[in-house]
Amino acid sequence: RKTRVAVVFGGSSSEHEISCVTAGSVMSAIDTDRYEVVPIGITRDGNWVLTSDDPRRLAITDGELPAVEHTGEELALPFDSTSGLLVVEPGAVPRRMGQVDVVLPLLHGPFGEDGTIQGLFEMMGARYAGAGVFASAAAMDKVFMKALLAEQGIPTGGYVAVTNRRWQRERKRVLEDIADLATTVFVKPARAGSSVGITRVPDAADTDAVARAVEEARAHDPKVIVEAAIPGREVECGVLESRDGGPPDVSMPAEIHVADGFDFYDFDAKYLSTSSLTIPADLPAEVTETLRRTAGKAFDAVDCEGLARVDFFYGDDGGVYVNEVNTMPGFTPSSAFPQMWANAGLEYPELIDRLISTALNRKPGLR
Ligand code: ADP
Ligand code: MG
Ligand code: MG
Repeated sequence: RKTRVAVVFGGSSSEHEISCVTAGSVMSAIDTDRYEVVPIGITRDGNWVLTSDDPRRLAITDGELPAVEHTGEELALPFDSTSGLLVVEPGAVPRRMGQVDVVLPLLHGPFGEDGTIQGLFEMMGARYAGAGVFASAAAMDKVFMKALLAEQGIPTGGYVAVTNRRWQRERKRVLEDIADLATTVFVKPARAGSSVGITRVPDAADTDAVARAVEEARAHDPKVIVEAAIPGREVECGVLESRDGGPPDVSMPAEIHVADGFDFYDFDAKYLSTSSLTIPADLPAEVTETLRRTAGKAFDAVDCEGLARVDFFYGDDGGVYVNEVNTMPGFTPSSAFPQMWANAGLEYPELIDRLISTALNRKPGLR
């Protein structure tokens, strides 16, 4: 029979809609001669539902973002021929995935990209694409990610971590630390993506503005990171786990050109504007080389598997700084990650094949 692929998307994070768009794209492009897709949506409130496999319903249309709707029905997964279906009650989390060969967790943000659902798949013994439990958790948390990168000598920008406890108990000290960090700062939820909850504060000495930005970030995550702004260009590399156990494959870098009228690459600039990419980025050869080498190093530093997108600032000071590692980057055909691989000759359907075959080849359990 065909390889059965469970495409899991949606989820309870603030990137629910973006995950739906990613899944819609993958389901439109996947080679249906080889793969049978089982589309599984997770509603914002955590219900697992079988969804229509009509991927057009999962696109951004006229600026409207798609979502997984709760059907009220139980989830019935394909199972063996005698029992027929594996039924999961509404509201329950499945304990097995039934007879699927591989899971594509096309989820972004907490409870999808942060190791929690990966842990569920590990417990089930299910094969799944992408980073494992540790790498997912480590890359999702911008504070711990920076610590792991720094430990490997990979340059990142300066920052102040604002845990819930510090914010509750030593707010004045925290605000002083932030004022000392830099003039312009970025205030972010420590564990989020798609620029959700991020504020650029031009004057870090303006404690009211900083406090407002921290509260805004805390609406998404009780843990916040405040970073020194790095003036420069935004560039990124796609990374894929190698097929032969060797070092990862790294694409040529892409440069992001944020559309006019945006201070930074925020949610609207990412998904609802004319921001564009140059691939390969027009950079001195040695900078391109540094970016690609560092991207591979960052992939390994965080212990990634399958795929990752490593994002950088090419600073006006000539330095190359890692901004972040994304273990489930945006994955529509026009997203940077697939575009970088298309530029390298790996077209979107082949890229999906590659993720699936990498996942099928790995053993469940400790690796
Ligand atoms: P997310 O995980 O939500 O994508 P990022 O850390 O990548 O969060 O921040 C989103 C965007 O904010 C970046 O793409 C960049 O445009 C801007 N940004 C974030 N941090 C900095 C920084 N330290 N210096 C300059 N720009 C930044
Ligand atoms: Mg980013
Ligand atoms: Mg991110």
